[in-house]
Amino acid sequence: MNLEREAAAATAIATAEIALETPEIASVGVIGAGQMGNGIAHVAALAGLEVTMLDVKPEAIEKAMATIRRNMDRQIARKTITEADKEKALAHLHTATGYDALGDCDLVIEAATEKEEIKRSIFKGVTPHLKPSCLIASNTSSISITRLAATTDRPEKFIGMHFMNPVPVMKLVEIIRGIATDEPTFQAIQALATHLGKTTAVAEDYPAFIVNRILIPMVNEAVYAIYEGVGSVAAIDTAMRLGANHPMGPLELADLVGLDTCLSVMQVLHEGLADSKYRPCPLLVKYVEAGWLGRKTGRGFYDYSQTPPRPTR
Ligand code: NAD
Repeated sequence: MNLEREAAAATAIATAEIALETPEIASVGVIGAGQMGNGIAHVAALAGLEVTMLDVKPEAIEKAMATIRRNMDRQIARKTITEADKEKALAHLHTATGYDALGDCDLVIEAATEKEEIKRSIFKGVTPHLKPSCLIASNTSSISITRLAATTDRPEKFIGMHFMNPVPVMKLVEIIRGIATDEPTFQAIQALATHLGKTTAVAEDYPAFIVNRILIPMVNEAVYAIYEGVGSVAAIDTAMRLGANHPMGPLELADLVGLDTCLSVMQVLHEGLADSKYRPCPLLVKYVEAGWLGRKTGRGFYDYSQTPPRPTR
């Protein structure tokens, strides 16, 4: 065999090995049934995966199931899915409050509150219940994948799978490899994202990755613009919608993302990059302390008890 043929054969073997090793993902556990968890469960169930959605709060699960039904009805009205698709997806969707329900999963996607202690305690609690081959993904917006992976018994099978909000509508999934993530895990998650109808962008594991490294400082700057009296909520959002051609103003976007999540991302950027340009605006901190977290609590920079929502400043 000449050298070229030898090299080609070696590549073929290596490719075949990767293909052989790439785990099949047929059943998925979703931890956290908030805005992101219910969206991830929705798209996974519609794609024919067996899904178990878990939350510590039973009322969060009830709310999530109602949201999933409502969002699927919207898709039926827009003729993007049929009534039969909805029924089939709901039959694939199970709910739970205990980790023992995740024992058969091929992949667990953590989409709980953006607090490192919460995520750490979830990984500590869930891993003893998972089969050894089960992959773990975190939907974190900003926390180090390498650090989260190190809290588990399988850092090589751990990866960042960052969906966008609202999950059924947004096309992107950002994929983040931790330092220990192996190639079969990466390939399996790429393949899953494609199967869910998403396009992927691969980001390195640095604070807030790509999307939020750029997006959330803009949101924070918009809050500084209110704080310093540069403009009102309505003026800032109108300016950015019509002046920068953004589909949504930065403060509407902040309310959609959740002000607690925006603040957590800024804190991760500030601490992780040690640069004062990422300091969270004190007004954002105050809103979060007041429990004004945006759409999910009915009030943020807009008051959602009225239609259309009323700017609060
Ligand atoms: P959310 O507040 O809507 O939901 C979080 C859910 O996690 C709640 O239902 C809560 O009860 C649950 N939870 C808390 N502790 C738990 C535990 N120990 N076990 C199980 N469930 C637990 O938050 P969200 O907006 O859905 O965000 C979830 C994750 O997704 C965060 O990491 C966030 O950074 C990320 N994310 C958010 C957005 C966004 O736009 N909101 C976008 C991409 C990624």
